[in-house]
Amino acid sequence: MQLTSHIMHRNSQLFFSLSQLLRKFVDAPDDATLSSNDSNQLEETLDDTDSTDSSFQMSPVTELPAKSVDILTSALSERHNPGGMESRYILILTESLNVLDFIFDTITEASSNRPKVIFGSRFKDDLNYTKVCQNVGKILQCMTVGRTVVLLNLEELYESLYDTLNQYFSCDKKMVDIGLGSQRKQAVVNDNFRLVVVAHKDLVYNDFPLPLINRLEKHYLSAASLLDESHLEILAVLRSWIIDFVTPSTDIDISPGQCDKCQADLEKPYKLPCEEHYVGDCCIEDSLRKCPKCGTNLPDDFVWELASEALENSKYFEGVTSSKDAFCGCNNEMLSTVVQKSKDVLNADVSGLEKEKLFEECKRQMLQCATGESVVRLHKTKLKDEVEEIQRIYFRDQHHESLLDFLSHEWQENSSLPQLLQVTTFATLMNVEHDLKNLEIELSSTIPGSKVKNIFLTDCTKENHFSDKLSNFYKGHTDCSLKLLIVQCEAADQNSELLDSVRYIIHEEAAETTGPPTCTVLLLSFPRGQTLTGYQGRKWHCIHIDDPSSADLSLPSVYRCMGLSPCQMISETSECISKDKDSSVNILDFLIKCIPSALSLTVLGQWADRAKLLKDLLLNNHEFAKRFLDLLKMLLDDQDNYLKKWVQDKAASAQSLKTTETLRYSLQSCLEKCLTCSMAELINCIDKNSNLKLLKNPGSWKTAFWLQIFTNCDIFRATKKHNLEHNAEVRHDIGQEVNTSCEPIEAEFPFSWLIWTFIENLLDTKSARTGYAPDVDGEIILESLMTRSLAGW
Ligand SMILES: [Zn+2]
Ligand SMILES: [Zn+2]
Repeated sequence: MQLTSHIMHRNSQLFFSLSQLLRKFVDAPDDATLSSNDSNQLEETLDDTDSTDSSFQMSPVTELPAKSVDILTSALSERHNPGGMESRYILILTESLNVLDFIFDTITEASSNRPKVIFGSRFKDDLNYTKVCQNVGKILQCMTVGRTVVLLNLEELYESLYDTLNQYFSCDKKMVDIGLGSQRKQAVVNDNFRLVVVAHKDLVYNDFPLPLINRLEKHYLSAASLLDESHLEILAVLRSWIIDFVTPSTDIDISPGQCDKCQADLEKPYKLPCEEHYVGDCCIEDSLRKCPKCGTNLPDDFVWELASEALENSKYFEGVTSSKDAFCGCNNEMLSTVVQKSKDVLNADVSGLEKEKLFEECKRQMLQCATGESVVRLHKTKLKDEVEEIQRIYFRDQHHESLLDFLSHEWQENSSLPQLLQVTTFATLMNVEHDLKNLEIELSSTIPGSKVKNIFLTDCTKENHFSDKLSNFYKGHTDCSLKLLIVQCEAADQNSELLDSVRYIIHEEAAETTGPPTCTVLLLSFPRGQTLTGYQGRKWHCIHIDDPSSADLSLPSVYRCMGLSPCQMISETSECISKDKDSSVNILDFLIKCIPSALSLTVLGQWADRAKLLKDLLLNNHEFAKRFLDLLKMLLDDQDNYLKKWVQDKAASAQSLKTTETLRYSLQSCLEKCLTCSMAELINCIDKNSNLKLLKNPGSWKTAFWLQIFTNCDIFRATKKHNLEHNAEVRHDIGQEVNTSCEPIEAEFPFSWLIWTFIENLLDTKSARTGYAPDVDGEIILESLMTRSLAGW
């Protein structure tokens, strides 16, 4: 770390020295050549890179800034004016535009005028010649009045800018001659005019015209260069923390992607006795006597066994072990910005105990941008000891499930919302008809009188359109309690330059807002696995949200689901129905959604109304719903242990998330998978001989009788017994029977097969054939039959 900072420091000094020399050259008449004296100095400067004083030997100044960033500060603020020459044309090479605030603040502090910022537009209809001319015009105007200009994203006019530096004198005035295509334009250069070009360093290296680079005073500015020693220490700790965040814990076995012997793709891993290396079935032949990697001998009695757990773990973490997979926008620049931001939040100088506090704040800031799945996966990573605390912060203190979830929570906590909010998500954008309408309705119950407006960035083809829309919104709607503007952008990973300017425009326009408080949400959607840059410092609050629209809430929150097995969820839902109370866990709606897929697994003949009938019964007949859930729970009980951590082990696995955008969706499909099999089994059982059809007429005696048997008999046991006695082919479990001997029967009597068994039992009380004890259910059936018959059916 120290080394890097030293190199940066030296580079900056070198840039500085070079630029001093070059500027001498530039400021001289066009045909001037480098004097021998100057070129000696240039060589000296280049040779003597170790000496930070070299530049000042040629341009002595009284005060020497100590840090590279101080040199830039001086240059920007004109305090540092070596050799009486103005540092007027500056090129700042950055890693990201996060450092813009620093640049603006420094310039504004130094002069009474705010600098004029010209951001190249990336709106698609703006990339034309007229726009370039307009921008050149703006620069010329500032040049004449002596206002500092900051240029960003203006590659198309940097060629012309080259001329700006070709000054000449006319009647004691400095003049420039700017060419644009075939046109040329003269302008006076005010003594106070300064020009600052800010650009990403890669862009400068790759795309900038070399003569332009040479004629500008170059400075490198990254977020890290704004940190001091103690913050750099925190940065180093934070960096190792985020690596642990995504690194599988050392105590779990994980198979590599390739065979350790022949490098073929490893689909079936076999673990070697060294406990570290794996070979595939490509290489497990008998001749293998030692580990091809580390040489450990295989014992004579060694038996090859498929390492299925290691394989499962490897799929669990496939492609998600880089920190950028866990934290949206993660790179060195983001980490430095997070440290800076945390320092601002705590508003404290760092010393001793404070470091601990600052680090904790940094973690919280990082978690704001973490994906839910990476947080759920933590129990299998090196941070497994911190898992509870991190998950508590992420899911309980911070809110990441939906935009509404976040906004409502913020409002309840602080009675305000962040003014500028950048949201990243892998979900698709919110649609107007449904998602946004819902959000508006829901939000108005938390924040009465709030006004929501949406802008799709793709709908704006010119910068003017966009800024007009913003301006209208910010200045209008003065009679509401809160203005919420949502600006949505898809494929955000491919639009980073556009977003840079969009953020700037939002920031400028929002500052002009009148009336009620505003919150502007910049919603960035991009595909999982892609790299996003653009994490924002200070003014923006950055968060990751699993699914901005909160359309489907038939399941409890992810955090709640993490502590519940499917069985417990069913059991709580059943309790909730029987006591007719509200509960955070009521998955009846979810079960109803699972009916069609459960029906598709049944062996029963399809009849169209079955799904509708089941839905009606579950929703409107509490007795039926409760019994249905209890029976379902009985079926799920067996798998309970296996499914205890279904969210952590199944839903958050990289493999499940491959096919889904959001964690919530993965959660739903995992739970659906668990439930549908058991549901199908149950439906198979109760719909034997089209038994469910008999419920179609709610008022009839058959329905009442049906429900009485359903709620009171052990129908699983009784059905199993019947199946055994009647030689129906039973596959795996009781429900999935196929009656091979005859056509499907449509019985006219509820649970006819149970009645049949009962009567057979009566005739053969010893039940010697099957070895079962006399059926207790018989008493219930008998009682029902008696009651009904007395009632006169
Ligand atoms: Zn192999
Ligand atoms: Zn080995």
